[in-house]
Amino acid sequence: MKALIEGILKFQTEAFPQRTDLFKHLSTTQQPGTLFITCSDSRVIPEMLTQQEPGELFVIRNAGNIVPSYGPEPGGVSATVEYAVAVLGVTDIVICGHSDCGAMTAISQCKCLDHLPAVASWLRHADSAKVINQGRTHLSPAHKLSSMVRENVAAQLTNLLTHPSVRLARQQGQLNLHGWVYDIESGAVEALDGRTNQFVSLSEHPQTCAYGSNPETVAA
Ligand code: ZN
Repeated sequence: MKALIEGILKFQTEAFPQRTDLFKHLSTTQQPGTLFITCSDSRVIPEMLTQQEPGELFVIRNAGNIVPSYGPEPGGVSATVEYAVAVLGVTDIVICGHSDCGAMTAISQCKCLDHLPAVASWLRHADSAKVINQGRTHLSPAHKLSSMVRENVAAQLTNLLTHPSVRLARQQGQLNLHGWVYDIESGAVEALDGRTNQFVSLSEHPQTCAYGSNPETVAA
């Protein structure tokens, strides 16, 4: 805890004074352009990864960067998606998985989670990706995990499409959905190309999009 308190003091004496105008502007308003959904993993820092300032990213983080499908008992993730899309009017949603993900490792290796009932229940939202990944052959456990991470990003994007706010905004041409995978060791980011269902280098293909805002042009 000592490091955190020292961090607060450093923020107040060094970082904050450099952005006083920004924080004054942000004190009564926010207009983030992007909803960024990623894992709770301590090594994945959305603002650092995308080099964004305070006020620019609306963020949801949980174990496994999961978005439950919309249902009769919507939870915190659904409420936050709805607020970001219907109230804040974000123009883009990114679901970002990552290398060495503990949640995806547990699924990929079919680890017994009986002693972690809440985790086991939560990860059921990745069941469709699990079934697909288990049905494939993989060169190694590492390849299997890598594939699971990507399959899960694709599955969570599909779940996102069940949310009425998302569907409405896409139909109005106001929302693009992106599926990314961040590699912790190299800093590389791969993005899902919705036209080919393949992950490609985002730096080499910066226009890559999973689901464009017009459902007519990209298959939902
Ligand atoms: Zn993770």
